[in-house]
Amino acid sequence: MPKSPWIGIDLDGTLAHFEVWKDVHTIGEPVPRMLRIIKWFLHNGFHVKIFTARASQGEAAILAIRDWLQKAGLPPDLEITDRKDHYMIECWDDLAISVEPNTGKRLGGASVMDM
Ligand SMILES: [Mg+2]
Repeated sequence: MPKSPWIGIDLDGTLAHFEVWKDVHTIGEPVPRMLRIIKWFLHNGFHVKIFTARASQGEAAILAIRDWLQKAGLPPDLEITDRKDHYMIECWDDLAISVEPNTGKRLGGASVMDM
């Protein structure tokens, strides 16, 4: 597949409800707002990847995600990765702290620094 700009969407806690880790076969219910956002990206020609640590947990994990995507009404052949590269243009992630480029200034997100 040729390299093109892509948008990374985290799974647990972002695209799927998440409370506690169970196993690779257990993925929470889809988050409706995120489903609409991904569908908007796809409809408008953006390259979307599921960006999840689950991708490092073997073929069973990948198959479980593909099954989940299909049941959620998304293309089951979306690329699934646990790696970012220089083509990633956005990362949607419940754990991310948004930072202003080149300043270290925090723009959003909850940190343990706040506790
Ligand atoms: Mg997450």
